[in-house]
Amino acid sequence: MSIFPVLLGVQYVGIAALMIEILYVMKQKTSKLQTLMMLVLIATCINFVGYLFEMQATDKNTALMAIKFIYFGKPYIALSIFLFAMEFYKVRLPRWLVNVLCGIHISVTILVLTCEKHTLYYSSIDYTYEGMFPHLVFGHSIIYKIYNYGFIMGYLLIIVLVGVKNYKYTRTHIEKTRIILMSSISGVSVAGFLLFCSGAARGYDTTVPAYIISATLLMILMFRYDLLDVLLLAKDDIVDEFDAGIVVLDERNRVIYMNKKAGDILAALQEEKAEAEISRLDRLCEQNERLHIEDRIYELRRKKITRNDNFYGNIYIIGDITESYNYTINLEKQKAIAEHANQAKSDFLARMSHEIRTPINSVLGMNEMILRDSTEPVVKRYAMNIKTSANSLLGIINDILDSSKIESGKMEILPVEYDLDSLLNDVVSMIYAKAKDKELRFEVNVNEKLPNKLYGDDVRIRQVLVNLLTNAVKYTHEGSVMLSVDGKSIGDSLLLFCEVKDTGIGIKEEDLPRIFQTFERVDEKRNRNIEGTGLGMNIVQSLLELMGTELKAESVYGSGTTFYFELSQKIISEEPIGNFRETVEKLGEEYQYKSLFKAPQAKILVVDDNEINRMVFTCMLLDTQIQVTEAESGIKALKLVEKERFDMIFLDYMMPELDGVETLHKMRNMEHNLSKAAPVIILTANAVTGAKEQYLAEGFDDYLSKPIIPEKLEQMIKDRLPKEYVVED
Ligand code: ADP
Repeated sequence: MSIFPVLLGVQYVGIAALMIEILYVMKQKTSKLQTLMMLVLIATCINFVGYLFEMQATDKNTALMAIKFIYFGKPYIALSIFLFAMEFYKVRLPRWLVNVLCGIHISVTILVLTCEKHTLYYSSIDYTYEGMFPHLVFGHSIIYKIYNYGFIMGYLLIIVLVGVKNYKYTRTHIEKTRIILMSSISGVSVAGFLLFCSGAARGYDTTVPAYIISATLLMILMFRYDLLDVLLLAKDDIVDEFDAGIVVLDERNRVIYMNKKAGDILAALQEEKAEAEISRLDRLCEQNERLHIEDRIYELRRKKITRNDNFYGNIYIIGDITESYNYTINLEKQKAIAEHANQAKSDFLARMSHEIRTPINSVLGMNEMILRDSTEPVVKRYAMNIKTSANSLLGIINDILDSSKIESGKMEILPVEYDLDSLLNDVVSMIYAKAKDKELRFEVNVNEKLPNKLYGDDVRIRQVLVNLLTNAVKYTHEGSVMLSVDGKSIGDSLLLFCEVKDTGIGIKEEDLPRIFQTFERVDEKRNRNIEGTGLGMNIVQSLLELMGTELKAESVYGSGTTFYFELSQKIISEEPIGNFRETVEKLGEEYQYKSLFKAPQAKILVVDDNEINRMVFTCMLLDTQIQVTEAESGIKALKLVEKERFDMIFLDYMMPELDGVETLHKMRNMEHNLSKAAPVIILTANAVTGAKEQYLAEGFDDYLSKPIIPEKLEQMIKDRLPKEYVVED
């Protein structure tokens, strides 16, 4: 009996402690866990007070009253510990289940309150004076057994099991301690209950102190380990809900934290393979590679944790980029398909324009013969019209070819030495007739002091000027078209200034930016009778951009347009261009072909599978009196050079059996070639960039593009023939 006062003391102390705990918890920030904690403490306190009454009861009735009081608290201790644990482990219990559980516990309270009237809960109620103190002895009904062994023990067991499961996935020290504490709380309660059932406590209900120990441990769990820090909880929740996996490693590369997502992604981190997995992450980060797990793709980022130059560890952020990755891959695929299609289009355009250039070559060549030979003014006029139309068709084809080249980035600027007067002469002679046809004044102002020999891409400058002037003539119905060329020397370069001005229909201010877009034609209603493709201005702008400058435009709608640009060209010699006006005036004279020179002794071989082309070639040189031999194939040419010595050989590129390049190689390797010293020139309609360089690299001496321009052909022959053969006219 001597232990009884001690037990009573424990009761008093316990009650006091519980009161203090309740007050403490009440003062803390509200959260669901805090509410559940309060429930645990209040229920435990009721149980405790009730048991104090029971211990001090001296008769059966008082003891029964105390028992009834106890049951206002006791059944709710295990329930609230269970709910607390589930909240702690973030196990979401359905509402209906919580309601059912509450219902069961309330029913038990009712059963105990009415226990004398039935045997549903206690099968018998006796009072004994044995044991440590007089107490009630109950017979246990089946409901009692199910409730106590099933529910109460069940709760506590579930808490331990969930704890074990969570422990496996937990790496941080603090989390582990929390789980151990939570499980110990259940363990203590179970131990108290088992001890009571065993009867070893001799009538003393050991669940009562067990519960108070549990409640205290729960307090420690909450406050010592910050369970009630809402901010910390919120942080945990946010990080857990985060779409990216987050793993925190300490300075020794041990995992001290990982969020739920990281746990899902890196299952291996939760097993013994953690170390290998971390070194894999390290390697991937260093090589800037992605992490592939099954069909998901993750992007890895590593961030050092440092404070005041001290290294504390690393954070890995693992983002699931599968969707965006697949999207990008898909986009890239689509892009490749589109680029392929675009390339196919460009190739087709290049091929087609090449194919069209060849017959135009024949048309222009034959027409040239008519122009030269015919004395009939009407026929000459018709032929002149053919020449204009064929040239404009050639212009369109060239524009398409250029546009596709620009689009595919294959357009190159090839600077060479050139004569400004010859460039301007070509431009002016092309435009002169057009302006004259429309009865427009064509004024050309070229600063006489401009250096004549320059270094730049004359072909492209010519193209730009021709395009601008053609438009000026096209879009001007009366008045004048003016070309002004001026410049300023800066060191060894000339800043060339070109301006094309017309008194034409003008362009609306809002339309100006649009005219540089491919296929864009503005003011279509008014211009519907004026032919055009809408490619020209875009080509001009692109070419100027490639040459490092840009086209500027000023226009007054209804009164005229001015296009101008500045272009830097290297000066080769300071010799001035002189009076250019005279050149223009000469153009006013009737078209009258005159060959540059005569060379009756010269022998030239032309090799082309196309008969008309050969004929055009021969006819073009009729006036020069050069002896032209024709060959229809490479093989025939090889036979001819064995027997005869030629001064020059023109080889077509596209020929069946042996093409131009193969013929040249064979020719050069022949033992008996009487024309070994003769320059070999390739004839081709292939105007693609780099073609010239390619042919020269194959061993050709020069390159002449089709359609052949008679002046160019003559000039080339004149430059390459031995001087003693050439007789100037
Ligand atoms: P197009 O083949 O239609 O002439 P361009 O690309 O050369 O195509 O020109 C685009 C548009 O710019 C033309 O359709 C025309 O409306 C306008 N344009 C170009 N040059 C002039 C000009 N000198 N005067 C008026 N409008 C012009």
